[in-house]
Amino acid sequence: MPDIQTEQSFDKKSLPGHAKVVIIGGGVVGCSILFHLAKFGWKDVVLLERDELTSGSSWHAAGQIHTISSDPNISRLQSYTIDLYKEIEELSGHSVGLHITGGFYAASTPEWYDYLKRERSKARYMGLSQEFISPKELAERHPLIDPKHYHAALWDDQDGDLDPSGATYAFAKAARVHGAQYFTHTPVVETNQRPDGSWDVVTAKGSINAEMIVNCGGLWGREVGHMAGLHLPVQPMEHHYLITEEIPEIATRDTRLPAGIDYEANIYFRQERTGMLLGTYEPKSTPWMVDGVPWEFGHELLQPDLDRIAARLEMSFERIPAIGRTGIKDIINGPFTFGPDGNPLIGPVPGVKNYWVAVGVMAGFCQGGGVGLTMAEWMIDGEPSIDVWAMDVARFGDWASPDWGTVKSSENYERRFVMTFPNETLPKGRMQKTTALYDRLVARGAVMDQSFGLENAQWFAEGPDNAHEVPTFERNRSHDYVAREINAVRTSVGGIEIANFAKHEFKGDGARAYLDKTLAGFVPKPGRLTLTPMLTPKGRLYGDLTVACLAKDHFVLFGSGAMQEAHRRWFEKELPDNVTYTNVSDDWHGIALSGPKSRDLLARICRDDISGGTFRFRDVRQAYVGGVPVILNRISFSGELGYEIYCRPQYLLRLSEAVETAGADLSYRWYGARALMSMRLEKSWGAWTLDYRPDFTAAESGMDVFINWKKDFVGKDAALAERQKGPARKLVTLVIDVDGIDVSGDEAILKDGAAVGYVSSGGYAHRVKKSVAMGYVITSTSNPGTKLQVEILGKMYSAEVQGAPLYDANGANMRD
Ligand SMILES: Cc1cc2nc3c(=O)[nH]c(=O)nc-3n(C[C@H](O)[C@H](O)[C@H](O)COP(=O)(O)OP(=O)(O)OC[C@H]3O[C@@H](n4cnc5c(N)ncnc54)[C@H](O)[C@@H]3O)c2cc1C
Repeated sequence: MPDIQTEQSFDKKSLPGHAKVVIIGGGVVGCSILFHLAKFGWKDVVLLERDELTSGSSWHAAGQIHTISSDPNISRLQSYTIDLYKEIEELSGHSVGLHITGGFYAASTPEWYDYLKRERSKARYMGLSQEFISPKELAERHPLIDPKHYHAALWDDQDGDLDPSGATYAFAKAARVHGAQYFTHTPVVETNQRPDGSWDVVTAKGSINAEMIVNCGGLWGREVGHMAGLHLPVQPMEHHYLITEEIPEIATRDTRLPAGIDYEANIYFRQERTGMLLGTYEPKSTPWMVDGVPWEFGHELLQPDLDRIAARLEMSFERIPAIGRTGIKDIINGPFTFGPDGNPLIGPVPGVKNYWVAVGVMAGFCQGGGVGLTMAEWMIDGEPSIDVWAMDVARFGDWASPDWGTVKSSENYERRFVMTFPNETLPKGRMQKTTALYDRLVARGAVMDQSFGLENAQWFAEGPDNAHEVPTFERNRSHDYVAREINAVRTSVGGIEIANFAKHEFKGDGARAYLDKTLAGFVPKPGRLTLTPMLTPKGRLYGDLTVACLAKDHFVLFGSGAMQEAHRRWFEKELPDNVTYTNVSDDWHGIALSGPKSRDLLARICRDDISGGTFRFRDVRQAYVGGVPVILNRISFSGELGYEIYCRPQYLLRLSEAVETAGADLSYRWYGARALMSMRLEKSWGAWTLDYRPDFTAAESGMDVFINWKKDFVGKDAALAERQKGPARKLVTLVIDVDGIDVSGDEAILKDGAAVGYVSSGGYAHRVKKSVAMGYVITSTSNPGTKLQVEILGKMYSAEVQGAPLYDANGANMRD
């Protein structure tokens, strides 16, 4: 047994003057990060806790653990978390009270059954142990359940419950075994950055100078953030669960009941001693301490309000009648912190050097281990081993204000067990950011959605009265409208707003050399554009960017709007003195014109000669269009002849008027993101966060064709090694033999019944009238013509790997 020092001996120790990392907050998340950093070799790490460990939300959690999450990589990390508990228990000698009983997700409606079929499909390629069981089997495994309410249940072997306090202490003590330190009753009162980028972490017991700090303040995550001038968009929420008196049927069992979730009833439940524990996410949430959590709040609970959960309780009595017959022993109402989309906010904060966060972790006992692993990898290796975009703090920018955070976190709390369909747009926190075209496009029938805070058109109905979506897993209401938009682009000319693309500006003597090193592809000459991957040192994709060279020392990079703060963080990390960099995404809005008549339209409103021979494919120039100054790119993501016209936001309305007027007799039509996403599928072009992401390499994604192998660039060694060995998997385009439904992402791809990959994106391809998916499959199944199957809502459909883009394979249209 390793030698663990006693609490007393540690309490007597004084704070060190310096540490590599100081973690603020000793809940399950902070303790897990401490453990992982020390385990991976960073011993000079210190955790400071205001009170006792667990003194935020960790001590009163219900302790239910499961693997299912809407994001597959979070599911993987949840599975890792559950597996880790045995290790920390053994290492620390502190019981985590773990019961791996198995658990189930019960489907009481056909829609929930469909939802679970999608989850089952994901589990296939992730290698998670999940299977469907019938209502009869469900009742055998959990005899207190009334099976008549259910169509089926998805069973997961890994689920169960634990003792939350025990788990937190086990992490902390296991961290000590690995050489880390923690100090309780040591509230941090200030965090002050020194000019060298390190931080002074101030407490009443003294200050520690830290190379990096991690805000794991949990319930006080916002307040700890304020100490560094940060306003994190997270919000503590009140949450109820109850514990029943003894239930005779349980008291007489010799095995523990499995854990369960019933989505429609919105309840989770498990055995607690000889009774049951049952919790629910109220339909009307109660944000707690919106204006700030008092520092004095200790091991206290909130006043329960059974009226808020009465309807849910009634439903639970129908589904688990024994609960209705039994008295309630305890009602817990405790606060815990939610993020705007329900996922944690972790990683280095863009724009604040050496400041890391791990806040908004709303399922700390399912996710804490994975968050700790990821944070430690990121801090020590410079990048996590899997793509954690779904948790990256950089997915929110300064538009994610505290008010917006409260509204969205509340929405997410209420929707914790509410289904979100692939075509659904969530209603709260909307119009946070709009462009000058918002009213105009809505008047034209736009159905809007929000991306990185900014409203953008998804598709266009006949008019505003008709602009709504009907949530479904099947082909949705937008189908025929999108077909109409694509037809306009294919035969004439369409326009799409492009304010939501990111724009990054580089200036200075060193700009070309910096970009040459940072980007794997070619950096263009003045007046030209190139497309290039950007790789991490380990050779993973970290961007697919269009580079415009406006002058020899002046470049603008166009890329994923959602990634703009993550890219900013990347670019600012090692920027030389002779380069200035600015994220100018909000400074350039614009319109992309696409279609065979786009040149005719543009020629009518542009003073320059833009004939094919003069303004060639991949040319860029600064010009006047519609009477306003613009950056004009001859490039296209639709696969048709096309131009991107970027103007300052104050000129956008003027530009749009010019476009609409000039296009009136050319059958000009606005189109939205859905049409664009359909058209790019036919060209086999990936989209960032879906097909292109740090889970994959340049060779796997096919982006290696854009690499300039003759130069030195970040990630070259790894990319070369892979080039010699060959990629283990490849991104392919599949045509699926299916009607009435398309993939929506994350479906399993199979060969002869065995999972060989998964769908990264897909949908209906209107120009070629086929159902198409892009996805990663093991290399041996990636050859053109290979026959595979894709699982959609539990059914297997035949699919075939394509050898060339489905539409205009040699790109003649856009080069015209
Ligand atoms: C009623 C209820 C039921 C739940 N059920 C489950 C469940 O079944 N399964 C599950 O996975 N999750 C559950 N949760 C959620 C879970 O409790 C949280 O996800 C988890 O506790 C978050 O841990 P944390 O470390 O991020 O935050 P916290 O536990 O809040 O820890 C933050 C710590 O930081 C300390 N701190 C703050 N400011 C400072 C400072 N200035 N200086 C020093 N220290 C500071 C605090 O004292 C605290 O100890 C439940 C939560 C509640 C309320």
